[in-house]
Amino acid sequence: MDRQQEFVLRTVEERDIRFIRLWFTDVLGTLKSVAVAPAELEAAFSEGIGFDGSSIEGLTRVYEADMIAKPDPTTFQVLPWRGERHGTARMFCDILTPDGEPSLADSRNVLKRMLAKASEKGFTFYTHPEVEFYLFEPSTDPSLPLVPVDQGGYFDHVPRGTAHDFRRAAITMLESMGISVEFSHHEAGPGQNEIDLRYADALTTADNIMTFRTVVKEVALEQGVYASFMPKPMADQPGSGMHTHLSLFEGDRNAFHAPGEHLELSSVARSFIAGLLTHAAEITAVTNQFTNSYKRLWGGAEAPSYICWGHNNRSALVRVPMYKPGKSNSARIEYRAVDSATNPYLAFAVLLAAGLKGIEEGYQLPEGADDDVWELTDAERRAMGIDPLPATLENAITVMEKSELVAETLGEHVFDFVLRNKKQEWEDYRSQVTPYELKRFLPML
Ligand code: GLN
Ligand code: MG
Ligand code: MG
Ligand code: MG
Repeated sequence: MDRQQEFVLRTVEERDIRFIRLWFTDVLGTLKSVAVAPAELEAAFSEGIGFDGSSIEGLTRVYEADMIAKPDPTTFQVLPWRGERHGTARMFCDILTPDGEPSLADSRNVLKRMLAKASEKGFTFYTHPEVEFYLFEPSTDPSLPLVPVDQGGYFDHVPRGTAHDFRRAAITMLESMGISVEFSHHEAGPGQNEIDLRYADALTTADNIMTFRTVVKEVALEQGVYASFMPKPMADQPGSGMHTHLSLFEGDRNAFHAPGEHLELSSVARSFIAGLLTHAAEITAVTNQFTNSYKRLWGGAEAPSYICWGHNNRSALVRVPMYKPGKSNSARIEYRAVDSATNPYLAFAVLLAAGLKGIEEGYQLPEGADDDVWELTDAERRAMGIDPLPATLENAITVMEKSELVAETLGEHVFDFVLRNKKQEWEDYRSQVTPYELKRFLPML
């Protein structure tokens, strides 16, 4: 037993923890949880806990259903919303096959493999997500119009509104679980909020995002509202993005920062951006995984639709934020396509893969775009070499299916599962006759 594991056992005893939830994430980014009693913990650390993987999205084929969840003791946290007495804690798990090998179907492992590749090249990958979500009045009938909890807008302080109480409760809970929050504010849509998590290594941030979603849902329940991470819940309001700030470090040094260079960007950063742009279309089915994601990407309201980069250009896919003088560590780039419903492990893995490819191959960064790229005509964009992001999930799957980069990064099992699952989702979606079509066509045809 190592020191971390001993610490967990001691804390469970000292804090009267009665349930330890073992958490992991399925391929579609849904959190899964199984609770074990304190008496099982030692065995969980040494052998893991067996479970039937065939009922979990993307985990196994039915004939190899036995899987093992092995808790990572460094992720141990007490769940504040379960109370102090007879408490509950959680740990994230790695998924293993019955012979103790890392499961190729485990998205946490997909990210770990990619991080190991980066580390062979001397890089640590840091991410800082800005998570947007909506708060609605609760409703049990999804066919009724959504009612946002307030009519606030960007940075609004809504008098008597629920939103800042909500943010305060959520942030207090996150902080008590060791997750630092940098900013939070009302976003542009009515009832829309944003909470930005402090940057950390990508595995930690991916775990933190999974915790974040759970905390937000729990606080919403407590406060009698409904929280949603759906990418575009209302056609005429902004969608919920998860802009992600990215940087590579070599030891303590930010490898993206080069004092005196254009925008203080190093050649490593420039090639990384070039990698993101070159492979953006291929990775979109991962960063934007649902049919609804494309309503956001193509719905304006500061969501990116075209593949280009720019300095402080909020219409670009990759934005280079203003460099803060003297703060070398803060040099970073922002990838703006990702939405709040992504599987963060897979999304970070493909973003890192694309960026590293740019570095390995020495891709040259094209000219940045200073204009609002939505205002340009198609011909102007074409002349500037600016391609669109995929317009639908079907487009995105078609491009991803041909991508060696994504196949290699996800591994064959996850790659095949995502393709199959997303093709099915597209088939289901396109077979619908929608209220829109009835309203439009029935009176006329
Ligand atoms: N909600 C916008 C999006 O979907 C982002 C708005 C912003 O943070 N500037 O990406
Ligand atoms: Mg923001
Ligand atoms: Mg925002
Ligand atoms: Mg942003």
